[in-house]
Amino acid sequence: MYKLEVKNDVFFIKIFHFSCKPLIMLQKELINWYLLNKRELPWRNTSNPYIIWLSEIILQQTRIQQGLPYFEKFLKKFPTIKKLASAQNHEIMKLWQGLGYYSRARNMHKTAKTIISNHKGKFPDKYHEIIKLTGIGPYTAAAIASFAFNEAVAVVDGNVHRVLSRYYAINESINTAVGKKLFAQLANDFLNKDAPATHNQAMMELGAVICKPQNPLCNNCPISKNCLAFSFKQQELFPKKEIKLKVKNRYLHYIFFSFKGKTAIHQRPAGDIWQNLYDLPLIEFDRKIETEELRNALKNENWFKADKKLKLYLAMQAKHKLTHQNLFATFWFIALNQKPKLEVAFIWVDKTDLKSYAISRLFEKFLISQNLI
Ligand code: SF4
Repeated sequence: MYKLEVKNDVFFIKIFHFSCKPLIMLQKELINWYLLNKRELPWRNTSNPYIIWLSEIILQQTRIQQGLPYFEKFLKKFPTIKKLASAQNHEIMKLWQGLGYYSRARNMHKTAKTIISNHKGKFPDKYHEIIKLTGIGPYTAAAIASFAFNEAVAVVDGNVHRVLSRYYAINESINTAVGKKLFAQLANDFLNKDAPATHNQAMMELGAVICKPQNPLCNNCPISKNCLAFSFKQQELFPKKEIKLKVKNRYLHYIFFSFKGKTAIHQRPAGDIWQNLYDLPLIEFDRKIETEELRNALKNENWFKADKKLKLYLAMQAKHKLTHQNLFATFWFIALNQKPKLEVAFIWVDKTDLKSYAISRLFEKFLISQNLI
């Protein structure tokens, strides 16, 4: 059980172990279980910080089975930080295509360059240095610092939240400021300071394969004897999470021009989803519209002569979900005998070459539907 006290704006957390078993025994049981049961994964059994960093970034928001082929492709093409730093942005984006959350790839590229220029090509070996790098938050910094350099700092990811919240039956939400502090402190108190790398991996593995979100396998759990949620059969009540996400609906109308076997694409700008990925000309609405309204919007774009009568063919409609957005996408086909006046950022490319550009999963679905890839 834990108790939270606030004195002079400072948090004090007291943990009371019900069990007569000392913490050191629990830590040992956890590590023994891990060494006997861990899954063999290509980024385990290495202390190379670059490989650990790459695997941790790929596995953010991504399941292992989906991330594994990307990890292998990426490491083959860019086996070192130096190779990654000297790569072209579009090569990196192309390899990342389909994995989503593209800012991860852009940040990795930026950080690789920083390591080459500011750290003489050597990955920083202390948590407080690693966390200053672009795209590396507390979790990833702790993973790299402990797995690669055995620094005694606890990782706190979704798996660790689940194990600790159940083990101590913690009612504090994991996503509030108080909750974040509480879990960071608990994880560090629970950490085996003599074997931080193995302990952290054991906690994450326990959360991933035993203390699962649904139907945890408590009878196979090495720390079940001391687990409060298990003893009260309340595993499903933890972890607590404050729900505050508001999902935005966006209505995207893509225009696939066809002019002498070519179509127009451009790289998406900063400040929105899919930055730097290639995309079609787009008109966006905040609601569902009729085709006539789209025609008017096309006229307002001044892409065509005012008297031009456009024939719009509906090519595909799809709903595409992102974390905070529902995209209602409609793809329109327009055949042309004269190029429209698009912004300078647009380039005209052979339709059959579209597959060589880094594009979003949504655009890829469209190309597949049109047998273009
Ligand atoms: S006993 Fe069950 S709920 Fe408790 S930590 Fe183990 S798997 Fe999770």
